[in-house]
Amino acid sequence: MTDEPDFAERKMRFLFALRQRGVTDPRVLEAMERIDRGEFVRGHFEDRAYEDTPLPIPCGQTISQPSVVGLMTQALQVGPRDKVLEIGTGSGYQAAILALLCRRVYTIDRHRRLVSEAEALFRHFDLTNITTLVADGSHGLPEQAPFDRIMVTAAAEDPPGPLLAQLKIGGIMVVPVGQSDAVQTLIRVRREEHGFEYDELRQVRFVPLVEGLGQT
Ligand code: SAH
Repeated sequence: MTDEPDFAERKMRFLFALRQRGVTDPRVLEAMERIDRGEFVRGHFEDRAYEDTPLPIPCGQTISQPSVVGLMTQALQVGPRDKVLEIGTGSGYQAAILALLCRRVYTIDRHRRLVSEAEALFRHFDLTNITTLVADGSHGLPEQAPFDRIMVTAAAEDPPGPLLAQLKIGGIMVVPVGQSDAVQTLIRVRREEHGFEYDELRQVRFVPLVEGLGQT
């Protein structure tokens, strides 16, 4: 893929589109420049990897739209020393970007197949600070809590209680909330000393957060 003559130009257009849609944090843009989305989109849709559109991945799931990945990453305000939890590994694209920005990423998916394919890509990109788990992520990961940052990339009706409980004081969580088959609202939750502060960021559309483990 990288040897194609038009690769550099496609990448430039990809980054330009991200900036136009409001992804302005230079660290986020740099991470998105380094992690080639083409590697995370296989088969039929590979050609469209640099378009600003969500695309199908195995197990009936989707890799998010790049501008949404950029805006969510930016909203999470990740620092280099942070311990980050991601719910919904999917293709692994979002986790790979987070891994360049923080100390360690724990990423959970309910589909074993997605997790093992993502692990192969993390090795390909030499990302050694990602821990993967096959589990129902709505319970979070109590044994590694509390987290500085939590990103949920599947829609819940409300921010899951266990995840709120596993956020550090001063920590931030970004999560799409709303009915699974409708437009949802992306919200940012900040844990304060005495409670939570909620910010609505934008409308989004994510696959639902589903209970239990997947079949594959
Ligand atoms: N972040 C991904 C896109 C996620 S798509 C990427 O960068 O490609 C949403 C993912 O959430 C799917 O892979 C789905 O299997 C997963 N998911 C849904 N409910 C879940 C749950 N309860 N626990 C863990 N993963 C879940």
